[in-house]
Order: sequence, then C-alpha cells, then structure tokens
Amino acid sequence: MSPHRLLTGKVVIATHNQGKLREMRELLAPYGIELVSAGELGLPEPVEDGYMFSENAAIKAVAAANASGLPALSDDSGICIDALDGAPGLFSANWAGPGKDFAPAIGRVQMELAKRGATTPETRKAHFVSALVIAWPDGHQELFEGRVFGTVTEQARGLGGFGYDPIFLPDGHDKTFGEMTAQEKHGIPADGSPGLSHRARAFHVLAAACLRKPA
Ligand code: IMP
Repeated sequence: MSPHRLLTGKVVIATHNQGKLREMRELLAPYGIELVSAGELGLPEPVEDGYMFSENAAIKAVAAANASGLPALSDDSGICIDALDGAPGLFSANWAGPGKDFAPAIGRVQMELAKRGATTPETRKAHFVSALVIAWPDGHQELFEGRVFGTVTEQARGLGGFGYDPIFLPDGHDKTFGEMTAQEKHGIPADGSPGLSHRARAFHVLAAACLRKPA
C-alpha cells in the first residue's frame, strides 16, 4: 500500500501570490478538489524564515492547515542563478520589494550579471525550483520537488506568466516562459509525461502520489 495520503475534499492553497494561485488552480483542475486560497480565507502570510525551499513551503502549508482545519498545499519556489552563487534563490520574492514589482527585480538580476561580466548564454545558466508541501491539520506532511534548467536572457521577452518568467529561457526551447502560453509552461502533456516548469514537474510527482481523478 502507498505510504502517501490521498488529497480529497476541500483544500487550501496556501499562497497570496496570484501567479502561483492561478497555476496551482490550473494544475489541480482535473482532480475534483474544492479549492480555497489563503487570501480568500483571510489567513495572514507567515514569516518564511527557513533555509531551504522545502522548509518555507512547510511553514506556509502548516500555518494554513492549522488556521483553517483543512489540508493545505503550498509552493515555495525561486530562481537560482549560477553566476550569482544561487541568488536570488530563496529571496526571489524579496528582490521585488514590498510592492512585488518584478521590473526592478529583473533589472537587479541583469545588473548583477553584467557586473560579473556574464554576457554569454554559457555564463547565464539558472534553474527554477519548486517545493510543494501538503500539510494536514493532524500533522501529516508530504513534500515534492521539481526543477527546470535554462538560461537568463539579456532582454526580457513576453508578457505571460509572472515573476522572472520573461527572462527565463528553458533549455531546449526558443521561447522564454514569458512568451509561452500557460499550457506550454505548465500544462500536462496528453501522454501524461511531466510538464515543463519546475512547478509542473513537482506537481507531476505530487499527483502520482496524492491525487486521483474522479471516476
Ligand atoms: P515565494 O515562494 O512566495 O517565496 O516566492 C517565489 C518567487 O519566486 C516568486 O515571487 C517569483 O518571483 C519567483 N518564481 C517562482 N516561481 C516562478 C515562476 O514560475 N515564474 C517566475 N517566477 C517565479
């Protein structure tokens, strides 16, 4: 028997990030789960003081599960740029400041890369990480992770997605995440293989372990 616990019924999506919320709703749509967001429930945003994506994801999911009495799913994610020693990494959201404006965050990435002379695709390697945690009010937790590797482009391209999407070119593709449709970025291919984005890849493992499609 699987050691994993199935996620059924009503579930809190433990995020206040509208971009993530949209993607997580799309990813969960086939599974017949009733979704409510932390924002809709008026839950506060907990302090994310973990040292790993998985720790911060657990902080958010546990806080939402305890406050709501429902299972809660959270995502902690970010972009890690090799030439910046992994920055902004855990601090990807903070680089956008309290206004959550990603134009200055993208500007800072470009400035930091320019300072280091990183002007070729080989020197601008990066990856996105997504850690997904499901926490239940009785303390049970499940963790799933996904990554996607690529390059930081010199120019922002595309208006789709959110956050750093316009400057991330996934390996083997000629469009940035910002130029892709939602289906291209995180849709589940018809053959059931994992999607492209870090979140879609983490979700693929989560779905196999904890989700079932309604009959
Ligand atoms: P946190 O997980 O709430 O700390 O925030 C993660 C931050 O990483 C987001 O605010 C975005 O800046 C960035 N990020 C995470 N996933 C993505 C993505 O799929 N596209 C673009 N930026 C992302």
